[in-house]
Amino acid sequence: MSAMMNSRTGWWTAVLLCCCWALPAQALERVALQLKWTHAFQFAGYYAALEQGYYRDAGLDVNIVEADPATDPVSEVLAGRSQYGVGTSSLLLARAAGKPVVALAVVFQQSPYAIYAAPHIGHLEDLVGKRLMLESQSDELLAYLKKEGIPLDRIRQIPHSFDADGLMQGKADAISGYISNEPYFFQQAQYPYRTFSPRSAGIDFYGDNLFTSAQELDAHPQRVRAFRAASLRGWQYAKQHRDEVIELIRKKYAPNLSYDYLRFESDQMLPLLQPNLIEIGYMNPGRWRDIALTYADLGLMPADFSFDGFLYDATEQDMGWFYRALGVALLLVAGIGGVALYIMRTNRRLKSSITALETTQQALAKSEKHYRVLVETMRDVVWVLDSETLYFRYVSPSVERLRGYTPEEVMCESLDAALTPEYATLLKQQIKLNKEEFLSGREPDKVYIEEIQQPRKDGTLVWTEAIAKYYRNEESGRIEVHGVTRDISERRAAQEKIRHMALHDLLTGLPNRMLLNDRLQQALASVRRDGGMVGLMFLDLDKFKQVNDTLGHDVGDLLLVQVAARMLDCVRGSDTVARIGGDEFIVLLRTVDGIADAVMVGEKIREALHRPFELAGRQLAISSSIGIALYPEHGADGVELSKNADIAMYHAKAHGRDRVQPFRAEMSGENAL
Ligand code: GH3
Ligand code: MG
Repeated sequence: MSAMMNSRTGWWTAVLLCCCWALPAQALERVALQLKWTHAFQFAGYYAALEQGYYRDAGLDVNIVEADPATDPVSEVLAGRSQYGVGTSSLLLARAAGKPVVALAVVFQQSPYAIYAAPHIGHLEDLVGKRLMLESQSDELLAYLKKEGIPLDRIRQIPHSFDADGLMQGKADAISGYISNEPYFFQQAQYPYRTFSPRSAGIDFYGDNLFTSAQELDAHPQRVRAFRAASLRGWQYAKQHRDEVIELIRKKYAPNLSYDYLRFESDQMLPLLQPNLIEIGYMNPGRWRDIALTYADLGLMPADFSFDGFLYDATEQDMGWFYRALGVALLLVAGIGGVALYIMRTNRRLKSSITALETTQQALAKSEKHYRVLVETMRDVVWVLDSETLYFRYVSPSVERLRGYTPEEVMCESLDAALTPEYATLLKQQIKLNKEEFLSGREPDKVYIEEIQQPRKDGTLVWTEAIAKYYRNEESGRIEVHGVTRDISERRAAQEKIRHMALHDLLTGLPNRMLLNDRLQQALASVRRDGGMVGLMFLDLDKFKQVNDTLGHDVGDLLLVQVAARMLDCVRGSDTVARIGGDEFIVLLRTVDGIADAVMVGEKIREALHRPFELAGRQLAISSSIGIALYPEHGADGVELSKNADIAMYHAKAHGRDRVQPFRAEMSGENAL
């Protein structure tokens, strides 16, 4: 047995040695990568791969070529001037047009494209007949315009000036741009730009990707594999060493770019990698198909587009290399059946593991798409917050519907910007406490629910409910808050309405007896503490029944509403006018200097109600009877005070109506009559 193992090990060594023939040669191969814009953080991963020696380790000497306004990366790569290029979802259109490009890896899982317009472009339709600067590969913006019903032939497309100045200096009415670039310069210049995002029309395409030509892939499959792997390693590095790569860009590639700008750009770009959700470079064939369908729906490419050869399959390519190596090995070991059998068995095992892996990958891709669609189409906002930095690591697109800000805008600001100052203070304390609770391990699965107010981009506030749970990020070791936020404005408005109805009179909108009692207790507590007097005034309209009887109940109602308004005009904001039923009102005077002061207010009201009312096309004159009691002189508490104000009012009724009557002790007996 052990002899057999040894002979197998020996043969394997031979096989492996032979395989080395199929590995890339050690002398560095020169290749070029064509960027799609001038040097910027947008290409950070490639600079990092070069600087860290990842390309060199892969046997490659890479020249990174920046673009100018006339450069079309697809043409550069197809003409062989560069072997690799940075593309967008437009690669699909190129392929559909018969250009043999191959998508190798998607770097930005979401597109940073938007249309930026001058302030006079209020709506997308305003672009008709106007000048639009479009860069190459920004076809998704055309898809967006088309989807919004804008006739493309009536838009004047002009070449891009490759900077934000084109718009600010009026050379165009709108330009294509990246959320990570133009807004920075607009904000610096305080230019009042407008943003139109394709995502608002449901166009959610892939962002920057890495591509090559079918010819390069055929001729140098090893090189393609090595270049792709080294580039993605570079992106991983750039993600983890952002500041270092910013310095590298400033030193070697774009000394004219400020640290501030690159920081802004990286703040916008890094979230688009979505490294927490998926592996960098991941391409979902289903999502590519969705993009193709959108293009096809808009008539930009045929619906029967064949994906054959368009999407690079990293797994298949790896196995291709393996099979070739295996072929060489098999030739060498021909005749030695035992080893061949062994290799064949290994091969079968490998094949079946590959099938299992492929099945798992397909299932994963399916579930990734399922959850992505679910998260990105639901009304609720799904988010992940880093509990230490208080910056969001992920925010789903529905945040734009809820608050008017794009996910990218939310992710580049801390939690403070997402809340009103009052709730920011409250929630930050809460997060600290919740985190301690989570770390203590007492209740690791506890779900926290908060009702909060959040600012919208238009300056209004929205009531939301956040449901959150704490997790430890296994990769970074940091505690994250994962949550869902939903709009509860309707629920809050209904609650507020119910609360208002419970405390107010339906007809006049004045406080009712319950709210009046509450305010009376507060007023009494305040003068008991600080001294002073409180006035309570009972008012009943004289002969109100006659109004109902002669003009009808509806006119009576209108009169009551106008009476309420006139009474409110006679008192201070701190006083309360309440309707306690029928034609009876109570006025609470929060502070009065004495009975003469209260009587003066009473007279003011009586006279105000004396002035004729315009009702149902006719004039109507009424009068009122008013009784007044003062705290502490006429009652030690609310009950006694109310009783005595009522007695005074009845006294006024009994003595000819239309008068203001302060309470006097000797009136107490009269009411019993
Ligand atoms: P008095 O001078 O003695 O106060 O005579 P009055 O006719 O005003 O009689 P009283 O205050 O006792 O009755 C008030 C009337 O108000 C009784 C009822 O028909 C009427 N009323 C009560 N609630 C409403 C209401 O919501 N709308 C209308 N239009 N009338 C009401
Ligand atoms: Mg009355």
